[in-house]
Amino acid sequence: MDHFSTIAESRKALLSGQRSAEAHTTEVLQHIHSLESALHAFVTIDDDGALASALRIDKEVGAGRDPGPLAGVIVAVKDNIVTKGLRTTAASRILENYVPVFDGHVVERLRNAGAIIVGKTNLDEFAMGSSTENSAFYPTCNPWNVDCVPGGSSGGSAAAVAAGQACVGLGSDTGGSIRQPASLCGIVGLKPTWGRVSRYGLIAFASSLDQVGPMARTVEDCAQLMQVIAGFDANDATSVDLDVPSYQSELDRGVDGLRIGVPEQYFGPGTDPEVAQTLRTALEQMESAGAILQTVSLPTTDHCLSSYYVIAPAEASSNLARYDGVRYGYRAEATDIDAMICKTRAAGFGAEVKRRIMLGTYALSAGYYDAFYGKAQRVRTLIRDDIARVLETVDVLATPTSPIPAFRLGERVSDPLSMYLMDICTLSANLAGIPALSQPCGFTSSGLPVGLQWMGRPFDEATLFRVAACYQNRTQWHTNHPPLGAL
Ligand code: GLN
Repeated sequence: MDHFSTIAESRKALLSGQRSAEAHTTEVLQHIHSLESALHAFVTIDDDGALASALRIDKEVGAGRDPGPLAGVIVAVKDNIVTKGLRTTAASRILENYVPVFDGHVVERLRNAGAIIVGKTNLDEFAMGSSTENSAFYPTCNPWNVDCVPGGSSGGSAAAVAAGQACVGLGSDTGGSIRQPASLCGIVGLKPTWGRVSRYGLIAFASSLDQVGPMARTVEDCAQLMQVIAGFDANDATSVDLDVPSYQSELDRGVDGLRIGVPEQYFGPGTDPEVAQTLRTALEQMESAGAILQTVSLPTTDHCLSSYYVIAPAEASSNLARYDGVRYGYRAEATDIDAMICKTRAAGFGAEVKRRIMLGTYALSAGYYDAFYGKAQRVRTLIRDDIARVLETVDVLATPTSPIPAFRLGERVSDPLSMYLMDICTLSANLAGIPALSQPCGFTSSGLPVGLQWMGRPFDEATLFRVAACYQNRTQWHTNHPPLGAL
């Protein structure tokens, strides 16, 4: 057993009496603390809460009761998912001291499944960003090279899982925030179909795009976490009441005869040649496993960025109106209410969040609504139809997750457009509402992980797990871990 054990190994050690949840949790907490000065993956580490949960699990096991499918499994939760009694900040000054009075639906499911939540992970403020550098507190570092970003916005969960500070993690994905950091940190991450996982208790960024999803070191673990969090929730009006299939039973089916579409637009000049080459090698491996490769065209790809960067800020400007200093969160002192709201928002939000609020408010304003917001929505429909058309002829699509590997901290902070370009491969799945998974598929010559993205039909996460498991069975990338001794 080491810091990189799987869910199955953890459970076995617990249920066989080889290691108590308390001993395991204590050991992981030590590991977390020993790495934090190098990584800064967490906003809050909940030593006491984690140990209390561990003791409860040990009691269940001792009494011969079933402690749940994630019994004793250490989970890191992105700090934009609310946790009862545990500070939840969205990495923003405006929520710096906010302690929620309820658990998000996915958190409740985790607890019921026996998972142990060790803490809340760092993110770009309100999940707006691609590098975790927009956190109001500090950036998170990439465990493969601490001079590089872990990606974002779920960079804290990605770094924590990659470095063994947790077995699995929860992230949220509005335009790529689970998959891009998973890719840059060499782990597996899934953005489920919109509506598949409840968003109740997820701090809203852009509600028509946001999804919560699992992050893990292996495809099996990702599937097992998804099994726990997926499903209907009456508290989320957009949650879909559809049966969740058993993902586990898909994992060994192989890909014989499965049609993989390779969209030519994703391998253009903006894609790093090493990334493109790594992808090609991975796809050849899938072909030799029995899959049929088919070049396909998604002509609307070029319009994803402009559509997303109107719709997401527009929804954000509306969602973030609630942070007015009145009911909860930070409040600045002032003599009248208008001045109070202005001062609160001026001091509470960071630069990127303010940029999005202004862009979004502009796009929604009376004179510009049709020209910007209305048009972006029409383009979104074209993008969705384009993908749906191609997914009638192939079973899944394969693309890079990120056009480039992890970049250096500070390199892009002063150039928002170059940061937005990091989402070029991931945005379409959010705009179309379809599921998409990233898994490690190799390393660059400088030792940074490369990610392979699979996109599938709505509610067909099972096929994504199936192809990803097949690729993982034929390769060893998931067994490589960051050189923690050097941190
Ligand atoms: N990087 C994208 C953005 O800044 C996506 C973020 C996300 O998925 N939360 O909006």
